[in-house]
Amino acid sequence: MNYYSLNRKAPNTTFADAVVRGLAPDKGLYFPESITPLDTYFFETIENKTNAEIAFEAIKQFIVPEIPEIILKTIVEDTLNFDFPVVNINKNISTLELFHGPTMAFKDVGARFMARCLGYFNKSNTHEVTVLVATSGDTGGAVANGFLGVKGVNVVILYPSGKVSDIQEKQLTTLGQNITALEVDGVFDDCQDMVKRAFMDEELTSQMQLTSANSINIARWLPQLFYYLFAYKQLKSKYKDIAFSIPSGNFGNICAGMVAQKLGLPVKHFIAANNANDTVVNYMTTQSYEPKPSVQTISNAMDVGNPSNFIRIQELHDNDFETLKANLSSYSYTDEETKTALLELYASHNYVADPHGAVGYLGAKAYLENNEAHVIFLETAHPTKFLDVVEDVIKKTVPLPSQIEAVMDKEKVAVAVSSYEELKQFLLK
Ligand SMILES: *Cc1c(COP(=O)(O)O)cnc(C)c1O
Repeated sequence: MNYYSLNRKAPNTTFADAVVRGLAPDKGLYFPESITPLDTYFFETIENKTNAEIAFEAIKQFIVPEIPEIILKTIVEDTLNFDFPVVNINKNISTLELFHGPTMAFKDVGARFMARCLGYFNKSNTHEVTVLVATSGDTGGAVANGFLGVKGVNVVILYPSGKVSDIQEKQLTTLGQNITALEVDGVFDDCQDMVKRAFMDEELTSQMQLTSANSINIARWLPQLFYYLFAYKQLKSKYKDIAFSIPSGNFGNICAGMVAQKLGLPVKHFIAANNANDTVVNYMTTQSYEPKPSVQTISNAMDVGNPSNFIRIQELHDNDFETLKANLSSYSYTDEETKTALLELYASHNYVADPHGAVGYLGAKAYLENNEAHVIFLETAHPTKFLDVVEDVIKKTVPLPSQIEAVMDKEKVAVAVSSYEELKQFLLK
């Protein structure tokens, strides 16, 4: 499968090249040249397949033969060695728990998959790659964990100082080996801007192969389509119409769900659930896309003012507003509303959510006011990753899972960075 740049000013290229580059030379995001639906038999028999079988069948058209089938099978099996349970909330709402991976963030899947692909491409050890990634919280830990010890790959993570949770900070600053954390004096958008600038800096890119592990990278983005298939497998016998509510920041996860839909997955509707960062909500009412500086919220992994994958979503809908509107609704919620939802989930449904999941739950409820479907909201992080907020709202201690407990006593190691020049100096030395 070849990939083209959404800026359409760069040559089409292979999966391998697109993964190693991250962004196309014209700074556009890569997009697959075609998406061929899976046959109906695949969906009819999905409940008889393992998650790894489902994932392999769904993703192979995008990757084989550059990664041979047999290797891709192993990559998928290694990536998916944990559960993706759907938990019922009420008659009309369920949640798909995506936090059972090693860092308890849904980004584990994308990071583990991408790391294994890069490891394969780098197997002859000819080209060292530096993965440069900006995180608003969860990406950093998942990427650090997914890439730890992968030969020929150095990982540099930028995170906004004081704006990620203690647990998140520990997860990305305590691993060592090929992982370095840079603590940036600024907000997430500053981190993301520095990363973008580094990719455009020819002095830098002529000396080292830089790539991204944000959802702009297709190897991080595409495997997220698995979640929607796993949810369908679990609920297809119970409900006819299924919609998904996705707590969204950079809109990579929801966009991958839309790829699953293109593959033939029956999805009635997508709901983008947002916090106060409402660029897309505004777009869906005004048709005018106006990026804004990000606002800090309690669901900080979604504090994104200019969601990078929205352009892919538009492409998937033929850049036609009406087509998009028929498939996507978008809502925005304040921190107060999010807390109320956290409490309601706990008090009325005995479910401890995290703030991102709570925003997803609100999106599900909003959609159900005027529509009929069974809505699955994605629970994108374990509640203990946002312990302060969650415990404060539900007035109950939430026990730390073992994955998290293991990092809490480790010592934080981070390099302070306050400008692009400092980042550049760091990378060059
Ligand atoms: C990254 C993240 C999101 C947002 O996902 P996008 O693909 O960027 O839209 C939501 N919740 C959590 C916990 C995250 O880490």
